[in-house]
Amino acid sequence: MNSPVPRSPFRLFDFQVNGFGGIDFQAPSVSRAEMEHAVKVMRHHGLAGIFLTLITDEIDAHCRRLENFEKLCATSPDIARMVVGYHIEGPWLSPEPGYRGAHPPGPMHAPSLAEFDRLQSAAGGRIRLITVAPEWPGSAECIAAMTQAGVHLALGHTNASNAQIDDAIRAGAKFVTHLGNGTPQEMHRHDNVVQRLLARDELTACLIPDGVHLPPFVLKNYFRAKPAGKVLFTTDAMSGAGGGPGRYRIGRFEIDVGADGIARQPGGSGFAGSTLTPDDGVRRCADYLRISLAESARYWSDAAAAAFGVTLPSWSN
Ligand SMILES: [Zn+2]
Repeated sequence: MNSPVPRSPFRLFDFQVNGFGGIDFQAPSVSRAEMEHAVKVMRHHGLAGIFLTLITDEIDAHCRRLENFEKLCATSPDIARMVVGYHIEGPWLSPEPGYRGAHPPGPMHAPSLAEFDRLQSAAGGRIRLITVAPEWPGSAECIAAMTQAGVHLALGHTNASNAQIDDAIRAGAKFVTHLGNGTPQEMHRHDNVVQRLLARDELTACLIPDGVHLPPFVLKNYFRAKPAGKVLFTTDAMSGAGGGPGRYRIGRFEIDVGADGIARQPGGSGFAGSTLTPDDGVRRCADYLRISLAESARYWSDAAAAAFGVTLPSWSN
């Protein structure tokens, strides 16, 4: 019998988790034992529920992964409790360098309702959040239809114009995925997509507060620029979260996590997900934003769950 693992006192919800505890959710076929291990490590770091997040790949490959996770949920109560839904981040994103971030551009293309139906069917209807770049033709129609189908729509990995952002908001988009990331290092000083999205009070900005994806002073500026209730936080965790330095994977890509805890994509340039754990995220937000730990925890729990209409499961163990 293992001795009980001391758990974080938090009860948190994270809507963008690509992996955890050494387990890569983008792997072709995650086993029950691997996923139960990831759940255990996530529990240790205060998570009560996640949107399991898949990044850009072919639709067929996404469907196979979703079917596999649905099978795991059917056989393991702990996996079913933790995976309260799915977030599809790609392939309906911008393939332009910088905007695509660490995602492979090859599978990227315009959103398609036929593909959405296939994904949702593979996911047992549990896709709850989709990130799109609304500059693709037909985006507004797809955003409207997917919103009608009960899915939350976020804009991200995008270089959308103001007019395209207007259309996406009218169609139902309500969130911005990791505002300030998924952009080139250098952009026009004023007319850039970060400023265009930041200015839209209709959109809730989702931010990665690891101190690396956004320097703390930038996090503070974005936080202050948004109306009350229009900011959420996420780890965007990859498999190295809850582990130590070393070599990890996101799908077919090897990712190095350095002694500094930063996950770097091949070649060492941009970031490839974070190793932030949510309990540390709560502490960092409190520190960087000068808010109380209790207020910070509310952003990471009740506020995030309410924004996506999620009821967090209760965990007795
Ligand atoms: Zn991303």
